[in-house]
Amino acid sequence: IAKNQGETEFHQAVQEVVESLMPFLDENPEYKFSKILERMIEPERVIMFRVPWVDDKGEIQVNRGYRIEMNSAIGPYKGGLRLHPTVNLGILKFLAFEQVFKNSLTTLPLGGGKGGSDFDPKGKSDNEVMRFCQSFMTELQRHIGPNTDVPAGDIGVGGREIGYLFGQYKRIRNEFTGVLTGKGLEWGGSLIRPEATGYGAVYFAEQMLITKSESMKGKTVAISGSGNVAQYAVEKIIELGGKVVTLSDSSGYIYDPKGIDSEKLAFVLELKNSRRGRISEYAEKFGVEYFEGKRPWEVKCDLALPCATQNEINTDDAKLLIKNGCYLVCEGANMPSTPEAVDIFIESKILFGPGKAANAGGVAVSGLEMSQNSMRLAWTREEVDARLKQIMSDIHETCVKHGKDDAGFVNYVKGANIGGFLKVANAMMSQGYV
Ligand code: NDP
Repeated sequence: IAKNQGETEFHQAVQEVVESLMPFLDENPEYKFSKILERMIEPERVIMFRVPWVDDKGEIQVNRGYRIEMNSAIGPYKGGLRLHPTVNLGILKFLAFEQVFKNSLTTLPLGGGKGGSDFDPKGKSDNEVMRFCQSFMTELQRHIGPNTDVPAGDIGVGGREIGYLFGQYKRIRNEFTGVLTGKGLEWGGSLIRPEATGYGAVYFAEQMLITKSESMKGKTVAISGSGNVAQYAVEKIIELGGKVVTLSDSSGYIYDPKGIDSEKLAFVLELKNSRRGRISEYAEKFGVEYFEGKRPWEVKCDLALPCATQNEINTDDAKLLIKNGCYLVCEGANMPSTPEAVDIFIESKILFGPGKAANAGGVAVSGLEMSQNSMRLAWTREEVDARLKQIMSDIHETCVKHGKDDAGFVNYVKGANIGGFLKVANAMMSQGYV
């Protein structure tokens, strides 16, 4: 803790992993002797840099850029870039640490990393975002490459930003390679990548429901967020016959008891992706209730999919969800539930899918984008979707294998941590003291 002062979210993520791994490590002391965990919590490399850019008024702005290269034992560093004013070293280290386990669970050869900046894209013009991205990549390009470190999108980084970043990389390095994922379809992107995290989380939720001989059909679902992950989670749930009744953003949430249908979802996509507007406009347009400054965990639902940000479900939210009949929580976002909330879910023995397993679909399809780039060919939508489904089912199986107790209850947190740890730890043991 002394070494990583003030990095609250990083401590939180490490503590969760250490607590659930300890009994396993006691039974398998070779990992303890090799100090694998101690090595895994120390990033292989942290890069911090100045990002100066000029705004539309001609004034110079200075942001801070980061890339955490956490672990490359099983493949090149891989993980998203986040642009949000809350970004700091501790948040990115927590995300990079989680990414190592998540990427290992995907069954693909991907190491773990994360990066971003405290730049706030909200209210910025396209030209300002472009100038920021170009300045950010001018430094980042010397640290990344298709066989070294392959960043992707995250909060605040979608197709537009990946385009600007890729353009600048290509211009400086004079090479067209798969150095970023989440690219446009015409220039190396993969079909299903935009949908992958949302679809993947729903596929994972379905697998959890199957263990209770149930399906998504007829289920009432509360979702938070209204960005990339939330949008495609809604799309897949509609397709599978479920009913999504909430969406949110950092200002508040909407409650639509009749359910968000395809037509209303099309409005959300246009609102959020083209106009970058607020979710409150949904309430005005469709005449439903809007709750300013609140999160959607107070509504009655069978399933909850937090798809916005970290620590958005606290103890009170967790208790309320269970009291209102919710019996499955599947994390589309990274670490949306506080450790106390996770304890409540596990003690209550509801189905709880942690982000590092449930939202791994995004990075999995990023891995598939890298494979297609290396082969210089493109798979069909059906092919990528089938692979995504298979990967989510394999991740679920790994969680069950390592997380099922004698009474048949599956602790998915334990399962994901042990499953993700083993592959990386074994690779590190084979590679010497690196
Ligand atoms: P987007 O930027 O597309 O959307 C984020 C959504 O969350 C927006 O609705 C945003 O509202 C809301 N939000 C962001 N910060 C806060 C906050 N501090 N409080 C309340 N709401 C907030 O991001 P994504 O959908 O891509 O990412 C959502 C989550 O999923 C993140 O935790 C991300 O790390 C995780 N994730 C994403 C993957 C991907 O492939 N995109 C892969 C795996 C995980 P507003 O518009 O008001 O900011």
